[in-house]
Amino acid sequence: MTDQQNPVNLSHALFDRFVLAGTCKDVRQNFSELCRHLQLDAQDYRHFYGKLKEKLNYWNAKELWEKIDKRAAHPDYDQGKPCAKTKCLVLGAGPCGLRTAIELALLGAQVVLLEKRTSFSRNNVLHLWPYTIRDLRNLGAKKFYGKFCSGSLDHISIRQLQLILLKLALILGVEVHTGVTYNGLVEPQASGTGWRALLLPDSHPASSYQFDVFISAGGGRFVPDGFKRKELRGKLAIGITANFVNHRTKAEAQVPEISGVARIYNQKFFRDLQTEMGIDLENIVYYKDDTHYFVMTAKKNSLLKKGVIMQDNANVEQLLAPANVNGEALLNYARDAAEFSTGRKLPNLEFATNHNAEADVAMFDFTCMHRAEYSSMVMERKGKKLLIGLVGDCLVEPFWPLGTGIARGFLAAFDTAWMVRSWGKGTAHMQVLAESFPATCGGPAELVSETHGLVQKGESERPESVLEVWPGALCPDPTLQTQTHRRVHSG
Ligand SMILES: Cc1cc2nc3c(=O)[nH]c(=O)nc-3n(C[C@H](O)[C@H](O)[C@H](O)COP(=O)(O)OP(=O)(O)OC[C@H]3O[C@@H](n4cnc5c(N)ncnc54)[C@H](O)[C@@H]3O)c2cc1C
Repeated sequence: MTDQQNPVNLSHALFDRFVLAGTCKDVRQNFSELCRHLQLDAQDYRHFYGKLKEKLNYWNAKELWEKIDKRAAHPDYDQGKPCAKTKCLVLGAGPCGLRTAIELALLGAQVVLLEKRTSFSRNNVLHLWPYTIRDLRNLGAKKFYGKFCSGSLDHISIRQLQLILLKLALILGVEVHTGVTYNGLVEPQASGTGWRALLLPDSHPASSYQFDVFISAGGGRFVPDGFKRKELRGKLAIGITANFVNHRTKAEAQVPEISGVARIYNQKFFRDLQTEMGIDLENIVYYKDDTHYFVMTAKKNSLLKKGVIMQDNANVEQLLAPANVNGEALLNYARDAAEFSTGRKLPNLEFATNHNAEADVAMFDFTCMHRAEYSSMVMERKGKKLLIGLVGDCLVEPFWPLGTGIARGFLAAFDTAWMVRSWGKGTAHMQVLAESFPATCGGPAELVSETHGLVQKGESERPESVLEVWPGALCPDPTLQTQTHRRVHSG
């Protein structure tokens, strides 16, 4: 009997296909097919995971259920009771938005996640800190991506990380919409209606969804209404990323990765690179994943000399404006640096393509990074409260050479989940915000008594109640982490 004829085998085949799907579109299509075949309603978020488990009781699925069940059994989730009545909207299917959505689903919340892109196409490879690797392994990452941090590997491409988290989120009942852009909040209009979102396309069904928690994980450039950002400016730093096709040949496999070499630690390498190629770098990293990924910090003078930047300019924005960059020279610069740093052992370097089907090479400024001035707030209109929290780059942009983006982003996800948990349990909103504030960075007592920006008069009948909180994930010292961090990691 073929899989098509045998419904049991077919459901296993569909699940296996979903688990191994390699694009966002395939994940979503296979998931829909699986739900259809098993007659499961993906919007039944409360029972979806339990029903899926009941229907898929074979070894491959069971291995994953064991991992998820172990995680879900943590007492802090209290079997999904704390947020059983909480409705959350999460903006952004980057790693941090997805990771937050998973935590909220484990706490029992109804979670709708919006993503403006329709595909996951970011080849760039992220270094992961040990505790994030452990966190992802414990959630079954290896089931979805067999190569996940095998042996001593400690990195993964952004797109693979998103795929792992997307699959988990769907299994846990998160409703994910791609190709939908969030354009702001819609205030409650009359008694009985709640907070909604203004979306593009505006007729999208998610625009009628009413929620009481809004999590913004829209990345470094996204600032939700009502939040302010601070600029952190350092000395001029120009980053270049380049991705080359990984043909997965034996010769390519043998080329060692460069997990980060900085000028001060290997002066000869950088001197030789400059003498032989005219390329002057501060540091370079090379990781192998779906692509051969290089990221480096280049000195302005060598970019000018090699004709990558055409005209010098004291203003960084104008210096790196597309009109002032010679694209061809940039490709040559990146290729030469990649070839030299790998001893010319990577044969036939061919650029991988990005979402625009162009060579996946980018030059960016990280002289200036942003962080939010506060991480969460509560708004109230017509008697309806809305808790808003920021996570990931939206909260604080990382300094890429430190590889702290995901590490800090996931901590913010846990922090936010803890805050939503208190919200769901009916804790007074001032207390919810105060709890999310790391005691070691000033202390909740001080904050509550300060209540800076507490009342901001809006156009509504009642004053808007706003309490600003400093970003919880910013504590630089891991020993200073909040209760949330400690508790979530104890499991
Ligand atoms: C060169 C470089 C190297 C790096 N290396 C590392 C590293 O080694 N390790 C590490 O941990 N981090 C690294 N980082 C940082 C890391 O990439 C980020 O911290 C991480 O991607 C942030 O995830 P996020 O989910 O917060 O945001 P993002 O990944 O930016 O995701 C935001 C999502 O929101 C969506 N979105 C935005 N606006 C809207 C809207 N209006 N409506 C709907 N959707 C919207 C976007 O399409 C996007 O998918 C590096 C960054 C750079 C630039």
